[in-house]
Amino acid sequence: MSRVIQSDEFRDLCQRLQRQPAKDGTGDWPAQQLQWLGDAGGWRWNMPQSCGGLGCSSVEMLQIYRDLSACCLTTAFVLTQRNAACQRLLQAREGVVSTQLLQDLAAGRVMATVGISHLTTSRQYLANPAVLAEPVAGGWVLTGTVPWATGAASSQLLVTGATTESGLQLLAVVPLPQDAVSVGVPAELLGLSAACTSEVRLSGVYVLEGDVLQGPAERVLSGGSGSAPAAGSLSTSAVALGFAEGALAGFSQEAELRGELVPYVQRLRQESRELWEQLLRSANGVGELTAEQLRGRSNSLALRTAQAWLAATRGAGYQRIHPASRAVRESLFFLVWSCPQAVLEWQLQELTMD
Ligand SMILES: Cc1cc2nc3c(=O)[nH]c(=O)nc-3n(C[C@H](O)[C@H](O)[C@H](O)COP(=O)(O)OP(=O)(O)OC[C@H]3O[C@@H](n4cnc5c(N)ncnc54)[C@H](O)[C@@H]3O)c2cc1C
Repeated sequence: MSRVIQSDEFRDLCQRLQRQPAKDGTGDWPAQQLQWLGDAGGWRWNMPQSCGGLGCSSVEMLQIYRDLSACCLTTAFVLTQRNAACQRLLQAREGVVSTQLLQDLAAGRVMATVGISHLTTSRQYLANPAVLAEPVAGGWVLTGTVPWATGAASSQLLVTGATTESGLQLLAVVPLPQDAVSVGVPAELLGLSAACTSEVRLSGVYVLEGDVLQGPAERVLSGGSGSAPAAGSLSTSAVALGFAEGALAGFSQEAELRGELVPYVQRLRQESRELWEQLLRSANGVGELTAEQLRGRSNSLALRTAQAWLAATRGAGYQRIHPASRAVRESLFFLVWSCPQAVLEWQLQELTMD
């Protein structure tokens, strides 16, 4: 089991997040919750020891994502996007990313995020790339709109992607703020609005060759490791399973008052346990399910658990301020976030009872 989740600091963090999860409106950036995360060493977990990090393994990171998501999905989600950016910086070609920058990230002095979905899951049907990369002396010029970037307004670095005229992709790091970059107003969403996800417009952003992390190449994101929160990866399933655990905790509190609910809580708990074991087997390379199948099943559990909790709490739970109501809204996030085509199809089949 992870050293981190056994530590007093981590337990303390979870208790604080449980007592005071992030709010859920736009403009409610969870500064306090992220401060607690930093105080518990959260910026160091995924970073290598050589730059002041803790060097947690990918399995440890899965446990961390699960436990945090059970307490506060918004905080856990912001961390996954920051960690995805760090992972891409760590995987960059040698010499591109300085040790100083990695140390700043591990110490929480610099915040980073990713806006890369337009290379995999967003805007794939458009004839023209969402962000075009044109070669110029000494580097590239990026023009277009990054459709989704969580916490961009609070970040100093955006790891983003662009596509060349010939269809090759590159991954680059864009410092924020700068004149050629405009971070849009955070979108008002069904849930997780406080994560402040917005469009980012790039109006001829000059990227030095030395700031290109990877590419130009075909499908530049396909080489991501298992620990990076990449599209449909095990990390995204760990977040969904953790969220389901959080909803299950709410549902079981209800069952403490009403014994007739207990069998339903037990059934969901059993499913959650089995899926978590499957996920760990997959993380250790001996799983029977693909990452997409695991994600589909984890999504399904997250959605059904939140709805079971709502059904049990009846009309009272349907009031907007009730935590079951919030859980149902937040559970819908898993239907759209980081879902590759195979996961989307799995979900549509389940929803249409095929
Ligand atoms: C809360 C939240 C936070 C996120 N944060 C990040 C982040 O920090 N970084 C990041 O990289 N990504 C992020 N994402 C993006 C996410 O991972 C997915 O890429 C995104 O949800 C895909 O949705 P989309 O609307 O962009 O998809 P699209 O496929 O672009 O669909 C957009 C719309 O286009 C239309 N459409 C779709 N397909 C077709 C078609 N074939 N023909 C015609 N019309 C079509 C539909 O009407 C659809 O509603 C976030 C998403 C959410 C919801």
